[in-house]
Amino acid sequence: MRYRSTRSEAAAVPFSTAIRQGLAPDGGLYVPEALPRLEPTAFASHDGLASVALPLLGPFTAGDPLADQLPEIVADAFNFPAPLVADPVDPAGPSVLELFHGPTAAFKDFGARFLAACLQRLPNPDGRPLTVLVATSGDTGGAVAAAFHRRPGFRVALLYPQGGVSALQERQLCCWDGNVSTFAVRGHFDDCQRLVKEAFSDRALRETFALSSANSINVGRLLPQLAAFAAASVRIRAEQGGDASFVVPSGNLGHAVACLWAREMGFPIGDVVLAHNANRAVPDFFADGNWRPRPSIATIANAMDVGDPSNMERLRALYPDRKAMILRLTAVSIDDDAIRARIRAEHRRSNRALCPHTAVAAEAWHRLPTATRERRHWVIVATAHPAKFPETVEPLIGRRIEPPASLSDLLSRPTRRSEIAADIAALREALTAA
Ligand SMILES: *Cc1c(COP(=O)(O)O)cnc(C)c1O
Repeated sequence: MRYRSTRSEAAAVPFSTAIRQGLAPDGGLYVPEALPRLEPTAFASHDGLASVALPLLGPFTAGDPLADQLPEIVADAFNFPAPLVADPVDPAGPSVLELFHGPTAAFKDFGARFLAACLQRLPNPDGRPLTVLVATSGDTGGAVAAAFHRRPGFRVALLYPQGGVSALQERQLCCWDGNVSTFAVRGHFDDCQRLVKEAFSDRALRETFALSSANSINVGRLLPQLAAFAAASVRIRAEQGGDASFVVPSGNLGHAVACLWAREMGFPIGDVVLAHNANRAVPDFFADGNWRPRPSIATIANAMDVGDPSNMERLRALYPDRKAMILRLTAVSIDDDAIRARIRAEHRRSNRALCPHTAVAAEAWHRLPTATRERRHWVIVATAHPAKFPETVEPLIGRRIEPPASLSDLLSRPTRRSEIAADIAALREALTAA
């Protein structure tokens, strides 16, 4: 399996090169030259994410030096569960796929841990530590920091928009020592993302540092996310028959692309709904076919505050024809008031607390036509634990949410960070000083 850039016909590269580089030299994103077709019945007897991930990811590393080590990598990365939980009140209601049982209580732990486990096993010919640059609007940074913290041969630089993340998220970004440095950028998430892109084309930085990225632009982040969709769809096929349809809380579209890649590979996945917050570039594109990226808008589902989703390039590479794209794929935008109303209503109905991102998906599901809801087995993807957003969720449901143990542990650590301007000169200086 080789990986090509979404932007050119330049020679495709092996898996190791694609994850080492993050972004392709022409500024495009790496995608598999061809998605392998698998027979999902081959997975019917598997249970547990790791046992699905291994045969699923095998073809993506075929022919690569990392192929032999894939069993260890998968065991390292998939060391927490992703339960598919039936609706507590309505047996015919949508299931919830809980992807928040990792070290930082968000689904990004899967991708971050897999990427770290891969990069750690690559030879490092020039001897310099690999500097992993991450722009984060909340959850990515914590997950990447947790995945690389104290791994020898790495340093991590986290860039987050100052004032653009919740108090608890900020603590989770700044609670690291040793090889992790955190920078509060005076700007928006899009500025952080632009800085990371600029860093890769900045000659001075490239000469000083061996740079890599761990954003969802890195294909090593995206591939492991296929496993949860694949495993859930296979389980639903085995237990109830039919396809699983997913509502995916979406921002940068990495998670959604993973779901769609799994569907293209032959897993029993039906409709897919991209549930966006008030950042509506993708829903607007689905409505009228015009791609109009824009500055991001701050919302209470802030890990999805993306005005110009990078993975749109991968979505368009997957479906060069828009008609094919919108066949079994829709996109909706949910505003903050509707997110709040859904969190309240769901708690009243089932006593369950949803994180704001998961509530975007739950609300998107409620807005589907009744016939569409009833015809399919729906899965709402739960991307973060509600305890990560206490200032939003607790007043809505009128009770405290107990954080999982791993999260309380992180939040009790001392914090540190530096503040920088949103320009490449400031980043260059800060990285050299850190
Ligand atoms: C990152 C994130 C999303 C959006 O995922 P994308 O791959 O960027 O579309 C949704 N929910 C949570 C909690 C996240 O951290």
